[in-house]
Amino acid sequence: MRVLTGDTPTGNLHLGHWVGSVKRRVQMQDTHECYFLVANMHAFTTRADKASDIRRDCIEVARDALCMGIDPERSAMFLQTEVPAIAELTYLFAMLLPYNRVMRNPTLKDELEIKGLKDNYSFGFPLYTVGQTADILAFRAHAVPVGEDQVPHIELTREVARRFNKMYCGVPDKAPDEEHESLGGVFPIPVADVGEVGRLVGIDGQNKMSKSLGNSVEIRDTAKQVKKKIGKIYTGQDSRQPDDPGEIDPAKNPLFQYVETFIADPDRVVELRDRYARGDNIGDGEVKMAVVDAINELLEPMRERRERYASDDVVLEILMEGSRKANVIAEETLAMAKDAASLRFFDRTIELS
Ligand code: ATP
Ligand code: MG
Repeated sequence: MRVLTGDTPTGNLHLGHWVGSVKRRVQMQDTHECYFLVANMHAFTTRADKASDIRRDCIEVARDALCMGIDPERSAMFLQTEVPAIAELTYLFAMLLPYNRVMRNPTLKDELEIKGLKDNYSFGFPLYTVGQTADILAFRAHAVPVGEDQVPHIELTREVARRFNKMYCGVPDKAPDEEHESLGGVFPIPVADVGEVGRLVGIDGQNKMSKSLGNSVEIRDTAKQVKKKIGKIYTGQDSRQPDDPGEIDPAKNPLFQYVETFIADPDRVVELRDRYARGDNIGDGEVKMAVVDAINELLEPMRERRERYASDDVVLEILMEGSRKANVIAEETLAMAKDAASLRFFDRTIELS
């Protein structure tokens, strides 16, 4: 079984990435053939004028992932733009999707809103969702570990795969998803594998923790920075005293999403929730300190690994090796797709150096 997922190089990876996707990726290395992409072309949707920043962030995102436990021996981590089959499949898939279907995607609408793009976005912005279907399908991936916001994109991918298989591979109209490959379809119908916390709220207590919104606790943050950031979380109760009963619903008090997500000992979570709900001499500061300690415990081994990947050359070498492996399978898929769609005239090989 193959896995494909990735991140856009728009900044440093954060705790949302860990709980939403990367923790799953690390586990899946034991059970799946893993491909992880750095979606650098997609970063141009919002930062085309900052090409050199994107280049730097490619290395930083890859380094963060390595620190989080992605093992370059077992997983191929690669650059989207070094795998040309992805761009070619994007073009082909764009022909299979009605324009209005692409524009109806709720995550696309949310991103336009949150990123303040309104009517001022490039043609490439909605195209990235089609590109993402190609990222996944180029690897004929069966599973895609992602956060909740990505589920609509995976749904779009499933639609493209079904349409392609039916249009060009003779898969019957009513074929169940799991049988597409055995019925001759080029593409398996991939499933979204949402992490244990599908949407970690940012320290602003409002939006999803996000690289580009400045509301994140980054994987590279020092213990001191973590403390400062967690200290800023708004608990939704302005003048609560340690003896006042407090709100423990994570939807109303984001601090408790952090308690439930990062404090590993379930008894400790129950204790904090009970005392806080009753107002049993427990201030926000005490809860925040417990969260800070838990997060630092999680980040410590990642901080230690950072030394191993300190050099840009080491990271680039890993990305080149990963891109080589990625091209093998993506070229194979492209050839299969071109065959099916009567587009295959000649063969080719790709070499990176
Ligand atoms: P950007 O702000 O540029 O969109 P991002 O922080 O949303 O960046 P992405 O690169 O878009 O990060 O997402 C990479 C993966 O991490 C996706 O699978 C996404 O669903 C997941 N992810 C990102 N943020 C969170 C979060 N706060 N909670 C859970 N999963 C998340
Ligand atoms: Mg995002």
